[in-house]
Amino acid sequence: MISIDQALDIIKKNLFILDSEEIDLENSPGRVLAADFLAPEPSPRFSNSAMDGFAVRFADIAGASAESPASLKVIGESQAGIPYTGQPEEGCCIRISTGAVLPEGFDTVVRVEDTESGDAGVLVKTASRKGKDVRFIGEEYQTGECLLRQGQHLSARHISILAAAGAARVSVFRRPRVALLVTGSELTSVGEAPGPGQIRDSNRLMLGAAVSEAGGVVVHSAIAGDDLAATVQAIEATFADAPDILLCAGGVSVGPHDHVKEAAVRAGFTEHFWRIRQKPGKPLFFAGKEKTLFFGLPGNPVSAYMCFCHYLRPLFAAISGQPWEYTSFTAVAAEEISNRGRRPNLVRVTCIHTPGELPKARAVGQQGSHMISSIVAADGYVLVDSETVIKGGTPIEVTTLP
Ligand code: AMP
Ligand code: MG
Repeated sequence: MISIDQALDIIKKNLFILDSEEIDLENSPGRVLAADFLAPEPSPRFSNSAMDGFAVRFADIAGASAESPASLKVIGESQAGIPYTGQPEEGCCIRISTGAVLPEGFDTVVRVEDTESGDAGVLVKTASRKGKDVRFIGEEYQTGECLLRQGQHLSARHISILAAAGAARVSVFRRPRVALLVTGSELTSVGEAPGPGQIRDSNRLMLGAAVSEAGGVVVHSAIAGDDLAATVQAIEATFADAPDILLCAGGVSVGPHDHVKEAAVRAGFTEHFWRIRQKPGKPLFFAGKEKTLFFGLPGNPVSAYMCFCHYLRPLFAAISGQPWEYTSFTAVAAEEISNRGRRPNLVRVTCIHTPGELPKARAVGQQGSHMISSIVAADGYVLVDSETVIKGGTPIEVTTLP
């Protein structure tokens, strides 16, 4: 058996980087940028007004106050999208709206609230400083500045800057293609009534959801009974769809009806590791063939899920140019969290949050690998080394569950 860190090292050594594709920006939420995005133009693209008011020349209003306002003649208007095209005159101003072009020859904006209408036009009652309420060309960024890095996961705020910069098409990493195969003669589908001794196949739907949460796309989804020949055939059929990742669940332990390892080898895969010193998820199997990575997850739903979270979720990010990392937060153990066993434990915890304090984490009561409620109740998990007791009050790092 190897350690968790050894397993992670072996996986990282066998990774590839996905190729990229160009897609419409509209379809890019949730995708990952495949190249740095450099500003094709400055922002703002032109100097414009930050307020509704009047574009003025500061020299004409310097020293203005409520007692001695500056009187300016309004000679035109600059509306958002409809710039003023005339020339400035002595002691004049231009009515201007937020976002409208600051006309040539003007340097300052006076807010409507700081003016009054006068006989000749407007009376400006305050003069703060030259350039006030002007958004200057390039003040946010200049052409060529890097706005987003390769590996950026695109969410609404990133789409906003890409759209503003005119990136109608963006280069993103291709979604990882995943084939799912669950094995077990006891499995029925969710909608069927289970017969004697049968259980519902929850893993296939759970893994499909986990894959899509991690940014992948399921290209093949199959189920095989506990039969070596049928399992070999099922693996070969899924491999024909050229998945980046072949994700199997069940049949990877030491029972007489666990055929996945042997079937994978018969189907041409080379074993990288089998079995990790950890709980849950000891029998995790990892192999490869050509460009396809094969993961044989244990069938117990909690083990399958925890293996996915610890080994697959970061992998999906890593093959899309992102660092291999976990999202975690610091908490304190609300009470003792112990692992008296000989394998490191991924202990699922729930947290109580109090403003201004570190969250208080408590191990979920029932941690059995078959008890799906343990992952439903958990906010995250803590890696507790073998034969280790974490005393109440100790700070701990909780890896979040999505
Ligand atoms: P195995 O890894 O095949 O030995 O299975 C371990 C346990 O997980 C057994 O109790 C199985 O019935 C259960 N199991 C296997 N596959 C699934 C599945 N697809 N959905 C839910 N439970 C499963
Ligand atoms: Mg089985």
